[in-house]
Amino acid sequence: MNVRFLGGAREVGRSALLVNDSLLLDFGMLTAEPPQFPVDTPDPEAVVVSHGHLDHVGTVPSLLSGDDRPPIHWTPPTAELALTLARDTLKLHGGSYNAPFTENDVKRVTEVSHTHGYREPFEAAGHEVTFYDAGHIPGSAHVLVDDGDTRLLYTGDFHTDDQRLVSGTTARPDADVVVCESTYSDVDHDPRADVESRFAESVKTTLWEGGTVVVPAFAIGRTQELLLICAAHDIPCYVDGMGKEVTEMLRRHPEFVRDADALRRAKSHARFVTGRDGQRKRITEQKAAIVTTSGMLSGGPAMTYIPEIRQRPTNKITMTGYQVEGTPGRRLLETGSAEIDGRVMPVSAQVEQYDFSAHADRDGLLSFLDAYRDATVLVNHGDRCADFVSELRADGFDASAPRLGEEFASG
Ligand SMILES: [Zn+2]
Repeated sequence: MNVRFLGGAREVGRSALLVNDSLLLDFGMLTAEPPQFPVDTPDPEAVVVSHGHLDHVGTVPSLLSGDDRPPIHWTPPTAELALTLARDTLKLHGGSYNAPFTENDVKRVTEVSHTHGYREPFEAAGHEVTFYDAGHIPGSAHVLVDDGDTRLLYTGDFHTDDQRLVSGTTARPDADVVVCESTYSDVDHDPRADVESRFAESVKTTLWEGGTVVVPAFAIGRTQELLLICAAHDIPCYVDGMGKEVTEMLRRHPEFVRDADALRRAKSHARFVTGRDGQRKRITEQKAAIVTTSGMLSGGPAMTYIPEIRQRPTNKITMTGYQVEGTPGRRLLETGSAEIDGRVMPVSAQVEQYDFSAHADRDGLLSFLDAYRDATVLVNHGDRCADFVSELRADGFDASAPRLGEEFASG
């Protein structure tokens, strides 16, 4: 088996792996100005996607822009998320060089889409492929690829701890080679229950004091997790942005969430914002939490809410995820100012940060990899892959961190 790293090697974003020159695993986009794509656009016989986040699926429609029509294999939620993200990319960048595909390419996606559940082996480009629940977001999968000689486990993004939306991964299928993500290889997450109760207490305090809380959140996974938390702690909340559509979609796939009843209750507990008749402005006067995209304040309805609430110190902004360097969210945490539509605005509202990560931390990664002490471990999807590899080697692992464009061969 040979594996070529076309993206996501020693970086986070634009994940893409080509197996045996025929089977493509993920084809993502790196969000930046301008966006970045995998270093090569192959013409694979088949495509398999691990989960529905932009950095894993964002560039997939471009594979259909020529005459080739490779089948695309994914779980049902991943298929729907891929289309949602593709439409959003067209809305943001359509017609420009930053959108590597057209509306027609996106239409073709549904013609070549094949959905599979977990633990249901299927054939793709002459390989046997099986999905296992990766516990990251609904529909997220570890991808096991068997070419008859070598079994490759591509972990995709995964979490070992339970979240309200999805349970942590427990699957450890036998494999000879493991491509393992390492996003948080130097982080220890606080226990989720602690983070959650700190968040709930803080939001409730602000509401008691008459303030409004804006909760910037990624649309896919994070928004639903926060709606579940708001419902569980009886926090009145609104939901806005792409997270609304994703919440509706997940209600149609109850078998891919941890507790479908809880998600149903959370959805009816939250009020969906239409944005009509100045509704957004009115909401910012209310004692409620507003869960809204974008998670890093780089667009979405958050851009309307922040200028409205920023001047009152009784109000609060709670960031709920990692803030990439150079994003307005990161700048707000570091400088106390928000840059909205090119204007720098000082923020008097309180600003807080919570770690609701959907990735395994250091302990989680090590406990996962403990099942693969006899395998070859290839570390990707992280900012410190080489450091993590040194630590794994010191611990007796056969580990390495491939570089962008590099090829790994075995068997
Ligand atoms: Zn992800």
